[in-house]
This record gives sequence, structure tokens and C-alpha cells, in this order.
Amino acid sequence: MKKLNFKLVVYAFSILMLMACGDDDSVPAMDDVEGDEIDDDESEVDQIDISTLAAKFYNTEAVSVAFDDTWVTITSSNLPDHKSMYYPMNDPLYEAYDEPNNPDFKKNPGEIGAQNYVFKIPRYPSEATNKESTPMGPMGVSINSVVFFNQEAAPGDDILEELNTFDQFEGHPAGDAYHYHIEPIWLTENKGSDAFLGFLLDGFPVYGPMENGKTITNDDLDDYHGHTSATADFPDGIYHYHITEDLPWINGDGFFGVAGTITQ
Ligand SMILES: [Zn+2]
Ligand SMILES: [Zn+2]
Repeated sequence: MKKLNFKLVVYAFSILMLMACGDDDSVPAMDDVEGDEIDDDESEVDQIDISTLAAKFYNTEAVSVAFDDTWVTITSSNLPDHKSMYYPMNDPLYEAYDEPNNPDFKKNPGEIGAQNYVFKIPRYPSEATNKESTPMGPMGVSINSVVFFNQEAAPGDDILEELNTFDQFEGHPAGDAYHYHIEPIWLTENKGSDAFLGFLLDGFPVYGPMENGKTITNDDLDDYHGHTSATADFPDGIYHYHITEDLPWINGDGFFGVAGTITQ
């Protein structure tokens, strides 16, 4: 009550001063008292809560999602729920594969093994002032627990040659860590080509290659491989990435937003 009375006094005093002598100095004094409250209201409008997508992570034997006021924490053992030639031969999800139309097809030496990834991503993602490069290794996680890697191969390897090592669902392992560099066709075939597919580490969502019945190309996207528009999950609009058919596929020049952390 004391503060309110004080503000009323200042306000009344300012009006009196304006009416009495038009003294400009009294106007900023009134603005200072009320300015903070107005700024707070504006910043809350910009916040979009991504925890509303937690239930989309469906392969619950391999991925779980928790959240608090600041972070969404996604714990993943990174085990695809689809068949792969990279599962050990005694695993029920092992399935032999070759690609007769591709003379360069070859299998990587690794087999799929369980990982222990913990992604801490911002619950209310925000654009970064200085855009950070994506790391080698996991840069995001998909709704079936499998991690997203960027468009770079390990030093000394060529990502375009590695395309020849992808399995029947377009993933492959590095060591025993399975991952997607390009469209995860198991997910887009089952959930839809315009579906939410996962998050990058900055908390912005990743969608498939379609939007409103149109195929998104790299030309539709910014340097970070995203844009801001309405999606089925965020009808008021949100920044989001799209996976496109052409290099760099998932992300371009780095995270659009302020990235969280990953432990493994
Ligand atoms: Zn790879
Ligand atoms: Zn879009």
C-alpha cells in the first residue's frame, strides 16, 4: 500500500506540475516509476513453452522426458524402435539389408548399443545473439530416442560417401552410437511428413519436409535451416527447423537459439 500511495502522489504531483508550469523534468520522473512493470509484461508474451510436446516422445522404453520451470530434460538410451542391419544379429530388431541399386553400398563396422544421453534443453527457447556451431556427435534427439547428428562426417571421412552406409531407415552407427543425419523415414512414414520429429539442443522443434501440403526446400529456410511460422503444435507460430532432402538436411550454420547441454 505504501508503494501505491507513493506512485499516486508522484502521478498527481506530475500532473500538477504539467498543468501549473509545463515543467518537462517531471514527466520522466513518472515514467521511471512505472516503466519496469511494462517491460516485464512484454517479455512474457514472447515465451513459448515446448514442454507441451513431451508426450510425442513415444518410444518410452528408450526415451523419457521431464521438465521444471527452466529446462526440459530428455534421457535417451538411443535405441531405434525400427529394424536395422546394425542391431546385433541376435537382437529381434536385426534385419539384413543391402541396396542392390547402389553399387557403393557398404556396411559400417559398428553395431547398435545402448547410450546414456541426457539432454537439458531450454523449456522456453530463445534466439541466440551469437549463433553457436552445432557439435560433432549428438545435436538433438528425435521422438523415438535416436539422436540427430549434423551434416559433418568425422574428420577424414566424407559425409556423401557415408550415405552409402545408411540402413533401411537412413541411419547408421558411429562406434555403437546410432544416429540420423538425414530424414528419418521410419518417423515420417509413421507420423507424417509434416510431423514434429524431435528437438535440437536449443529447444526449437524439428519438423519433417512437408508444411501445409508443400515440400520445404533449403531456399525456404534461413542459414540455420529454419523459419518462423505456425505449426500444428504451435498455431501462434514458433521458430522451427525442417529436415529437407538436400544437404545440409537438418541444420545449417549452427543453433538458432541458445543451446542447452548434453551429457553422455
Ligand atoms: Zn554419421
Ligand atoms: Zn515450417
